[in-house]
Amino acid sequence: MSLNASRLEAIAAATTFSDRNRQVQPSEPGSLERAFGADVFSERVMRARLPKEVFKTLMGTIKQGKRLNHELADVVAAAMKDWAIENGATHYTHWFQPLTGLTAEKHDSFITPDGTGGVIAQFSGGALTQGEPDASSFPSGGVRSTFEARGYTAWDCTSPVFLNRQGENVTLCIPTAFVSWTGEALDYKTPLLRSMEAISKQALRILKIFGTDKGVGRLLTTVGVEQEYFLVDRTLYFARPDLITCDRTLFGARPPKGQQLEDHYFGSIPHRVLSFMAEVERELHRVGVPVKTRHNEVAPGQYEIAPVFETAHIACDHQMLVMEVLKRVAPRYGLQCLLHEKPFAGVNGSGKHNNWSMATDTGVNLLDPQSETHTNMEFLIFVAAVMRAVDLHGDLLRAAIASASNDHRLGANEAPPAIMSIFMGDMLTDLLTQLETGDAKRTIKGGRLDLGASTLPMLPRDSGDRNRTSPFAFTGNKFEFRAVGSSQTSAWPNTILNTMVAESLDYVANELEKALGKNPSPAKLQSEVRVLLKKLIKQHKRVIFNGDGYSKAWHEEAAKRGLPHLRDSVDALPVLKSKRALDLMSKYSVLSRVEMSSRAIIALEKYVKQVSIEAETMTAMARQLFIPAATQHQTQMAEAVASTMAADVDCEEQRQELTEFVGKVSRLKAATRNLETALEHHDEDPMAHAQHIKKHVKPAMADLRSIVDELENVVSDELWPIPTYRDLLFIK
Ligand code: ADP
Ligand code: MG
Repeated sequence: MSLNASRLEAIAAATTFSDRNRQVQPSEPGSLERAFGADVFSERVMRARLPKEVFKTLMGTIKQGKRLNHELADVVAAAMKDWAIENGATHYTHWFQPLTGLTAEKHDSFITPDGTGGVIAQFSGGALTQGEPDASSFPSGGVRSTFEARGYTAWDCTSPVFLNRQGENVTLCIPTAFVSWTGEALDYKTPLLRSMEAISKQALRILKIFGTDKGVGRLLTTVGVEQEYFLVDRTLYFARPDLITCDRTLFGARPPKGQQLEDHYFGSIPHRVLSFMAEVERELHRVGVPVKTRHNEVAPGQYEIAPVFETAHIACDHQMLVMEVLKRVAPRYGLQCLLHEKPFAGVNGSGKHNNWSMATDTGVNLLDPQSETHTNMEFLIFVAAVMRAVDLHGDLLRAAIASASNDHRLGANEAPPAIMSIFMGDMLTDLLTQLETGDAKRTIKGGRLDLGASTLPMLPRDSGDRNRTSPFAFTGNKFEFRAVGSSQTSAWPNTILNTMVAESLDYVANELEKALGKNPSPAKLQSEVRVLLKKLIKQHKRVIFNGDGYSKAWHEEAAKRGLPHLRDSVDALPVLKSKRALDLMSKYSVLSRVEMSSRAIIALEKYVKQVSIEAETMTAMARQLFIPAATQHQTQMAEAVASTMAADVDCEEQRQELTEFVGKVSRLKAATRNLETALEHHDEDPMAHAQHIKKHVKPAMADLRSIVDELENVVSDELWPIPTYRDLLFIK
């Protein structure tokens, strides 16, 4: 679309931005710490407001995972209500994560009629602990028929209650699980909590074998999620039906300048963007999300936000809040936040780096190698268990991150490939080799880095370099699962990861318990652990790959090693209902067979719906925008030829160009019709439908896009009906 005067004015107004729209005022100088968690019903608030005994019992539930005593609920609810109302709240809601992948809320006011024409504010223990939203309109994948609409939400008291502020509207949000009335999980929270219990139980057996379980009540998985996102100008956003409907561009010719110059990454942050980021951080800090890092990402218009890690389920709840707040704050700055994995073709996409580790509730990180790692058998056993898990269930891990949107990113030579392998780094790889072939005698040290200028400090050097091309990398004291998509809920991949590793820890504990018998000597423990490590390394080392994950050579090598390469969702999603996946998830009581199969169906249905919506948006844009624009351009060309010929001037070349252009317009019309025909197909079976989409709809979409992008480069700028990549990526 041509940037006409009024449009240019709007953009100029938006980009010479001066912080005037902000809602959450910057804190007074020096109040950074006070503002953090100001809207959380935190341990500190509970200690101050709850009777001592009630506080102690509730903390027992929160910290040791003990079952909640329902008699307490009334007392807690009353204190919560008073606190919320003092802070401006009028309503409360159970806040849950249905299988839409978004969060859901249904607000109720605190008011209760008092019988004399007035009201009193009330909030009972019952209303705190249980809700009953109509479940019929949430995806259930056949777990529940529409006529069995009852669903329950149940308070997860281990995740903090918080206030959601939007302008003057303040709502008390209570994190909950969401289940059907027969008790099946209809959400992402329930299985995550179950998977955390499963991994805790198995890990404790191993700590017991090593005698390191003293004082440890539970094992916690820890998660820190780096979130990538794009920002585009909101005026331009509204001129793109594809962005409005699909969160990504379905058309767009490559601009002459993309990310070639690598000048955006870690570059200085534009004022408007920085103002936006600061407000996002203020909002998140108030609700207790410890966001810490902000920077420009690789692509123009792309940014990242990252928190300090937390216990997995809290980190995943907070991750949902991060996405919500990013979306919510952007319009105040004339921006639109795109969380899609690939908003722009030919430009880097967005992921979510899921940093994951295991720690005891006493604060020991089990994936911390410490300095003499070759003597740290407990660490090595935990690492080997993760290696075994990724080798045995790499296909399931791949399926956990499969979506129509992530298909555009994985393996696109900018994001990790769809082959699940582990980057172990030099130090660990060396150690594992030593262990496989004999005894581990040394740990490679990083040493120090002399920068050659005496005024610069000597830097301690890590024992290995980083590797951005691996989907699953050991990064010093945690694993970083990088293939997760930017728009997806992190609860699901973490659920799968926890369960896979629980199964491996179970195996390791069984093997060691069998080999060691009762009261083994320390020497026997050492030697049996070594025997088991050797066996695990031999059997599963094929999953280790430290080289360039983008290279073709790796794809060939991975195939030789027999590692699964599930290229897209249609390949990957069926794994969710494979016998091995159903066995694994049900064995550890994370998801029953019914619950797990339903998730496979929901994911496939979502794939079909997402791609179909995109395809329909494309045909509508072609008919309503591109065909008229191209026709008009054709008319202008034809009129120029006609008038030139009438003036008796030779214009054979222009005639030729016109003929070529008419050819393109015909191709545009044919490609549109072709996609419309492909879309006519329907299938009751979501798998069969997904296959049709892959085989017929997606290629037709690619054809239509290619001719439209060709036309974009030749049709007059004045006639082109939508903002281009140049406008979207570079107006900041
Ligand atoms: P990068 O990977 O970009 O170098 P960092 O090293 O700062 O970034 O870490 C990225 C994320 O990993 C942060 O959210 C951080 O809190 C998280 N993280 C660090 N240690 C752990 C851990 N033990 N468990 C889970 N996440 C962790
Ligand atoms: Mg990282």
